[in-house]
Amino acid sequence: MSNSYKPGDVVPESGIYKVQHDSHRLMHTATLLRETLFPLCRHCGQRVRFELRRQVKSSQVPAFRDTAHLKEYPLPDSPFEVAA
Ligand SMILES: [Zn+2]
Repeated sequence: MSNSYKPGDVVPESGIYKVQHDSHRLMHTATLLRETLFPLCRHCGQRVRFELRRQVKSSQVPAFRDTAHLKEYPLPDSPFEVAA
């Protein structure tokens, strides 16, 4: 079994992650940048898990943008600021 991550965890490596949902049957991937937070699912919220499929150079990973299925994890103190 490979490690899986949940929303709000810090992304350990920039790469393409497999996204597995709990409440609806959907499997897709998301490209995430290291040291950002794993996003939430719009449908199942916290009940989504991420597994690293392939590492990607950080310079090749665009900043995460909300998608049809995922939304940025809210920072507890400053929801409108992105950590530098
Ligand atoms: Zn979901």
